[in-house]
Amino acid sequence: MQDILRERYRAELSRMSMLPYYDISKREQYIEYKLKNEQCTWVDVITYVNIGLHEDCYKVVQRITDPYSLKILVNKYNKLGETFMPKDMETIDEKYNPEGLLLRHDARIAFEEMCRAAEREGIHLEAISTFRSFYYQWKIYLKDITPVQSIEEYSVQRDKVSARPGHSEHQTGLAVDINDLEQTFENTEEGKWLALSAFNYGFILRYPKWKEKITGYNFEPWHYRYLGKELSQSIFYSDLTYDEFYSRYLIQPNKGILYE
Ligand SMILES: [Zn+2]
Repeated sequence: MQDILRERYRAELSRMSMLPYYDISKREQYIEYKLKNEQCTWVDVITYVNIGLHEDCYKVVQRITDPYSLKILVNKYNKLGETFMPKDMETIDEKYNPEGLLLRHDARIAFEEMCRAAEREGIHLEAISTFRSFYYQWKIYLKDITPVQSIEEYSVQRDKVSARPGHSEHQTGLAVDINDLEQTFENTEEGKWLALSAFNYGFILRYPKWKEKITGYNFEPWHYRYLGKELSQSIFYSDLTYDEFYSRYLIQPNKGILYE
């Protein structure tokens, strides 16, 4: 039965080969993924396998080669180096950042512009976590471990809410946690304003609701990632996560990364 299905899938998949992000070297992985996830469309199968979702997270990891790009993708399959710390970080205006936190230049300008716009509508936004170094992320990742737990047991739950060092978007200096680290933030005036407006200022909601399987993280209504206005608007209207958008439109097999 599986063999008949496999043959059918092979034929169906050959019709998908015109997609620019179809990677012929991953043909067998696409078919195996489809066998396990029959309800998935081919477009999604190809996207998910390209992201790396057919493997357990953290198993196959690529080292990021362009850490200064504003478009970099950092996730459980793409890692920053231990020593990477952006050189163009600046302190955010204290009105929106009582703790003296840092963002990269472009993200800092855009964040302040967004906060000022929100303020005009009676919404107060505040950065509560921005840049985190590799070593600080280690501390955060391990902060709840107990002496009776093995690291493997601990990781099962911890991986859903916290990144392993090198895999945190906060290390890019382009991510910002805003106001409140509770899922109920979604229902506040501030959370709603951000969900509908942040893309106009260059930020996207990085870990949306119902997309946990793709991003690998629980819904985080407070975590926003700077990508620039043009890209954030395209992503907002595409209804894709950044992992999906990046894998379809910003990187291609044989051509590699499609941006400067
Ligand atoms: Zn965050």
